[in-house]
Amino acid sequence: MEKRFVYADNAATTAVSEEVLNAMLPYLTTEYGNASSIYKLGRDAQKAVETAREKAAKAIGAEPREIFFTSGGSESNNWAIKGAAELMAEKGKKHIVTSVFEHHSVLHTCEYLSDRGFEVTYVPVNDKGLIDPEGVKKAIREDTALVAVMYANNEIGTIQPIDEIAALCRERGVFFHTDAVQAVGHVDIDVHRQGIDMLSLSGHKIHAQKGIGALYIRRGIVLPNFIHGGGQERGKRAGTENVPAIVGLGAALEAAARNIAEKAAVTASKRDRIIDGLLKIPHTRLNGDRERRLAGNINISFEGIDGEALLLMLDLNGICVSSGSACTSGSNDPSHVLMSIGLSSEAAHSALRLSIEEDITDEDISYILEVITKSAEKLRSKSPAWERMMKNDKTNRQ
Ligand SMILES: *Cc1c(COP(=O)(O)O)cnc(C)c1O
Repeated sequence: MEKRFVYADNAATTAVSEEVLNAMLPYLTTEYGNASSIYKLGRDAQKAVETAREKAAKAIGAEPREIFFTSGGSESNNWAIKGAAELMAEKGKKHIVTSVFEHHSVLHTCEYLSDRGFEVTYVPVNDKGLIDPEGVKKAIREDTALVAVMYANNEIGTIQPIDEIAALCRERGVFFHTDAVQAVGHVDIDVHRQGIDMLSLSGHKIHAQKGIGALYIRRGIVLPNFIHGGGQERGKRAGTENVPAIVGLGAALEAAARNIAEKAAVTASKRDRIIDGLLKIPHTRLNGDRERRLAGNINISFEGIDGEALLLMLDLNGICVSSGSACTSGSNDPSHVLMSIGLSSEAAHSALRLSIEEDITDEDISYILEVITKSAEKLRSKSPAWERMMKNDKTNRQ
């Protein structure tokens, strides 16, 4: 088996595409004007920023004036949630509804607010990794300021019933925010049609560079300014615009919104081949609903195996994957997402996430399946706990 390099961690980050890089290059070289300067070099930069804003708006069905550029998904989530909380607190609404398995940039923002007099209700998810809109409905109170539910989960890829949740928020007059960082470019999004009030997205998950993102804020919602200073981003988010990154994000969103259904169909069939191949390994389970999941997400637990050890063996073979999410790797806590769908701490520690895109080749897939199957066997053969488990298994069956 010849060693290959296979990147299967696109949910952690993606490579900057050639299309994005080419769009950015002029603004990293000759077109270096400050978008606030009034001579031509500056005006051209300003124009490029506004063109990118139009592209971003179009990709999610918003108006350009509803798009605010930020430094990424984490900042967008912070701004939306803190902003809505501050705005509604003035009206005596100090309750927030979110889910137990949000990204940490949502959960930790909610914790911050709960230390400052806000109340937070964490809606549970079922064992398939799906949120029941009824659960959200029950959690909404008279004093609820905001519901924040992610569009698609970053670890298990499950796609949430966003339309239903948005509709019931609107009915109750509660703001609805969604962290769509994993969904943008993978599912069709139309914020106006879907009744979404605020939406976070990030560039580096869709082939733009790291450190750029956007927050969509529905027209009519006036969130407090997030960064105070100059008049950039209509005074809401001060600081000289990162013109090359913004241009890159515009190009990335334009590309991401092209042929979503076709790309997803190709990716999903490759994903299914990997899932089926990995589930042939004994004592494995798929985490998250099989149907309602992102086309590129694979999350599998390997009983009796330490996911981190398996990840490192794959790394030696040139395969990049994730155990749990990148944000929690390096810490020893089991993934809060996997725990939330009912996995034991051991099962959570035994999980591997692969996130692929449509360009993964059949050879890559065969290689992945072969390396993981062999590595799993090797790790299990060296594990006394696994031997014991297998022995018990046999006696139980006799
Ligand atoms: C990656 C990610 C974020 C954070 O985005 P950054 O741009 O890295 O700050 C937030 N939410 C989800 C679901 C993510 O996957």
